[in-house]
Amino acid sequence: MEERILRWISDRLADRVASSVNFTKGADPGIFSRRVDRTALNVRVPFCRARCPFCAFPGEVYTEQYKRIYIHGLRDELRLYSEGFEGKGNRPVVERVYLSGGTPTLLYKEFGQVSGYVSEYFPFRGKIAIEAYPNDLKDEVLKALVDSGVNQVSVGVQTFNEAVLSKSLGRKGRREELTAVLRRVMDYGFEYVNIDLMFSLPNQTKEMLVEDLETAAGIGLHGISTYPLMLLHYTALAKIQSAGKGAKPRKGVAMETDGGKETEQYLAIVETLERYGYKLRTLWSFSLKPEAYEGPYEHECFIGLGPRAWGFVNDRFTLNAPSTEDYLATINEGRLPVYAFSEVRNSPLVRLARRFYYGGVNRSYLKGLEEESFWLRGLIWVLRLTGLVKWEGEELKLTKEALAYGSIATKKIASATLTKMDEILRAG
Ligand code: SF4
Repeated sequence: MEERILRWISDRLADRVASSVNFTKGADPGIFSRRVDRTALNVRVPFCRARCPFCAFPGEVYTEQYKRIYIHGLRDELRLYSEGFEGKGNRPVVERVYLSGGTPTLLYKEFGQVSGYVSEYFPFRGKIAIEAYPNDLKDEVLKALVDSGVNQVSVGVQTFNEAVLSKSLGRKGRREELTAVLRRVMDYGFEYVNIDLMFSLPNQTKEMLVEDLETAAGIGLHGISTYPLMLLHYTALAKIQSAGKGAKPRKGVAMETDGGKETEQYLAIVETLERYGYKLRTLWSFSLKPEAYEGPYEHECFIGLGPRAWGFVNDRFTLNAPSTEDYLATINEGRLPVYAFSEVRNSPLVRLARRFYYGGVNRSYLKGLEEESFWLRGLIWVLRLTGLVKWEGEELKLTKEALAYGSIATKKIASATLTKMDEILRAG
C-alpha cells in the first residue's frame, strides 16, 4: 500500500493513543483507589549541573542546601505512599528502584541513604538502576554506586561524535574519553550497562550514527537505547534554531520533515545492532540480554517520587509538584506532592500499542483484545494485509517497515505527552 496511506494510519493511531493522557490539576488523584501488590519507584533527582539545550525535562540548578532538603522530602514522600497503601491492606513489594534525572549522580554520596529509606517503608526485593551523566563517572562515584547496591547503570552518551555533540547538543566530550568511561563502568561488574544514543540530530549523517553504534557494540555494552531528537518548541535548542531562521518556535514537534532521514537512520540502527547480536527489547532499545532489563517507565506500576517526577499507579498518570519548594511545602502539609494527574483510558488500542512498543503481541493476549473491540479486529486485518505485521509462532510481530512507523508514532506520542506535562507544570 502506498507509503502516504500507511503513514496516515500510523499517525491516526498515534493521535488516538496520545489523546489518552489529559491532565487535571488539584483534584484527588485517587491513587489509593485499589490495592497494589507490586511496584517500581521512579525516584527523580531534580538537579542538573548544567542545562542541555535539547532537554525536554531539565532539572533545577544544584545546590548543597536543596539537596539536603530534597532527601528529607523524599523520605516523607515514601512514608506518605507507604501509609496510603497500608490503608488498603498492604504495602506493595518494590521490584525496582530507578534513579532518574535531572542528574542522579550528583547525589552519589546519598544513594545508600535513599535505598535505606526505601527498605524502611516498603518490602524491597529488587534492582536499583541509575541514569548517569558520563563525565560524572569517576572511580569514586562508581565505587559509591557499587557500595550502595546499584545493579544497573544507564549512561547518557547521546553521541560519540565530537562535532555533533558540541554543535548540535551543546555538550563537550571526546570519543576516547567517553569510550574510556564506558569501559571503566563495565569493569566495575554492574549486572547491566546501557547507554542512550540520539539519532536524527542536526549535522548527523547515517554513517556517523552507524559509527556510534559500532563503537558502543564494540565495548560489549549490554544495552543500547536510541532516541530521535524531539525538538519541542519550549526547549532552548528549538528557540535557538528558530531564532536563526528569524521565526518563533512552533508548538508541537517536527515529524519527519527531513526527507526520510529519520526513518533511514532508524532502519540503520535496527540493521546494525542486529548484526552485532542485539535483540529488539522495545522500539527504541536493543539488548544482548533483554530479560535482564526493564526501562524506567515500563513497569505496570511505578510511583513517581521527587519534584516533577511522573508515575503510573492504578491507571493514573501522576505528575509531581513543579519545583522543589512546592514539593516540600505540600509534603510538609502531610499531602502527597501530586500536582496533576491523568486517568489513562486503558482501551484495547492503548493496550495493543503498549505491546507493539515491545515489537509484538502474543496470540492469546490479542484474542482477548479482539473480543473486547470489533474495530481492533479490523485494524489487525489491515496491518496484516499491508505487511506491517506477521505471525512468528505464537507472536504477531511488527515487520522492519512497521518498526520504522512505530518509531515515528512513539516519537509523536512521547512529544505530545511531554508537551502536555510542560504546559500543566507551567500553568502553576
Ligand atoms: S539531558 Fe540530563 S543533564 Fe542535560 S539538562 Fe536534561 S536532565 Fe539535565
